[in-house]
Amino acid sequence: MDKYQILKKYFGYDSFREGQEIMVDALAMGRDVFGIMPTGAGKSLCYQVPALLKEGIAIVVSPLISLMKDQVGTLNQAGVHAAFFNSSLTASQYRKALLLAKEGRYKMIYVAPERLLLEEFIDFAVGADISIVAIDEAHCVSQWGQDFRPSYLKIAEFIRRLPHRPAVGAFTATATREVREDILAALDLNDPVTVTTGFDRKNLFYKVSAGKDKFGEVMDYLTENPSESGIIYCLTRKTVEEVCEKLRNRGIAATRYHAGLPDAERRKNQDDFLYDTAAVMVATNAFGMGIDKSNVRFVIHYNMPKNIESYYQEAGRAGRDGEEARCILLYAPQDVVLNQFLIEQETGNEELGEEERSLVKERDKERLKQMAFYCTTNECLRDFILRYFGEYTTNYCGKCSNCLTEFEEIDVTETARAIIECVKSSGQRFGMTVITDTLRGSQAAKLRENRMAQNICFGRLKEVPIYRIRQVMQFLCHHGYILVTDDKYPVVKLTDQSQEIFKNVSVRMKAAKEQKKKKTSAGRAGEQKTVQEDFLDTDYALFEKLRKVRMEIAKTEGVPPYIVFSDKSLKDMSAKKPGSRKEFLKVSGVGENKCRKYGERFLTAIAEYKKPL
Ligand code: ADP
Ligand code: MG
Repeated sequence: MDKYQILKKYFGYDSFREGQEIMVDALAMGRDVFGIMPTGAGKSLCYQVPALLKEGIAIVVSPLISLMKDQVGTLNQAGVHAAFFNSSLTASQYRKALLLAKEGRYKMIYVAPERLLLEEFIDFAVGADISIVAIDEAHCVSQWGQDFRPSYLKIAEFIRRLPHRPAVGAFTATATREVREDILAALDLNDPVTVTTGFDRKNLFYKVSAGKDKFGEVMDYLTENPSESGIIYCLTRKTVEEVCEKLRNRGIAATRYHAGLPDAERRKNQDDFLYDTAAVMVATNAFGMGIDKSNVRFVIHYNMPKNIESYYQEAGRAGRDGEEARCILLYAPQDVVLNQFLIEQETGNEELGEEERSLVKERDKERLKQMAFYCTTNECLRDFILRYFGEYTTNYCGKCSNCLTEFEEIDVTETARAIIECVKSSGQRFGMTVITDTLRGSQAAKLRENRMAQNICFGRLKEVPIYRIRQVMQFLCHHGYILVTDDKYPVVKLTDQSQEIFKNVSVRMKAAKEQKKKKTSAGRAGEQKTVQEDFLDTDYALFEKLRKVRMEIAKTEGVPPYIVFSDKSLKDMSAKKPGSRKEFLKVSGVGENKCRKYGERFLTAIAEYKKPL
């Protein structure tokens, strides 16, 4: 079989996606590869297809039990013999699996990095014909990354101990330069064929909302999009509890996940979400690193996360199947304060020295600032994220809340100058709130104490709304005219550029056009359309029916529904309405094995649906 036949037979796809074919060819030829591709791009196929092309066994190193379970489940569904070796196996299960592996029963073996150098495993590996070693989530080898796993450092030694060096492939979605260099060095890659595909996730819609009523917005969304599966991320366990409780009280099938829950409950709740028993998962960032659930239709951040890296990773759990999905961030200025507090509390990675730790803290603060800029910018959100990762695109994507909002350029020269004068005349000793209150001429007690009422700027901007003063302050900060310190009580300071404000003829800033907003779900009209368009060819009623069939199969098979078929496959099925097995095989994601196992049931359901009443 050639690579196209394998792609079709096992995975049910007609063509490779960007970057995949180069990786497949290189690994098949015995070259090392390094794939840097965003979440959902299809990194797994890059090593799974060559694993099936080549003689021998492919070893896949993966950091998490849930990831391995998912992948092995998917492969077995596709008719590929695969197994995982990790701490979820009992000693006797492990021995048995090793025995089967020695007999050559598995084409692919997923293994936790801790196991690689254990005697039984290395014995087996040395005696076996290993075709490929693939390292998934390769950024775990980098000490700079947040997911650093010391046991990843053992991979290179494992490979050195094999009698014949197999082709090695490293895959990650994390792009920063330090991390890349770490991967190349620590995994000892040999002149790898490197593919970096764009980081843009075209099917994701981005939105930032600074509305006061966060819970109300969540409820609006869930009411307008019932039966969608999604994640709501909160910063603290307490918020998780509150939000989950409130959702349940409103009849939403929600569950929760955070590090404070007992293991058993966490596992159960995660399964409820994966198996679509609970549509909504409310969680802290403890949830998700190993979640490959492909039909997550939305990720709502109830609080701003600590940096863009985390945000992109968490938001990126939406729409892995390539279908439209939404990433909504509910922002409140207090989120910044809370994050600052969390950074201060962090004890840091124990494997780093004192000096490195303080360096990491500095970086964390800088990253937090960038995150706050994302929440307050009026520019294209997609462009903001991509630029952060060093990719340059146009500044209009047409698919984020900023691109869909009508903006106007307004003149904020007076406000900007007043802010800078106020910072200067009060001795650069105060935070944003005191500066704003002073400019507004507020009688807050703090002002009287600090004699701000005598300040020459007191009340200078009493006609300007508070939100506008804050916006202009953010704008000045973002453009380097002022800076806000990282202290426990952040203080606004002047910069070398501050005086420029008085030289500029005018200071102009983009701001949302004032308009009467609809009572509920303000500004969602445009984004709604992009999602609905997607359904044009899809027969929605049939799609719902097929979802039920999928759920029944999933229950009997004991696997999550998205492992039976992705939403994308079901949509394609409801659009194509196949009437025979041959037609069924043409549906995206239907390979021979799945056609044999499930074809009948779906075809019957479709035939029933098509039958005139
Ligand atoms: P990654 O590991 O890069 O985040 P995955 O390997 O989990 O992504 O793939 C994401 C989804 O894309 C999976 O549902 C997978 O089946 C699908 N996919 C991968 N390659 C293709 C392809 N060539 N055509 C269609 N779908 C694909
Ligand atoms: Mg992956």
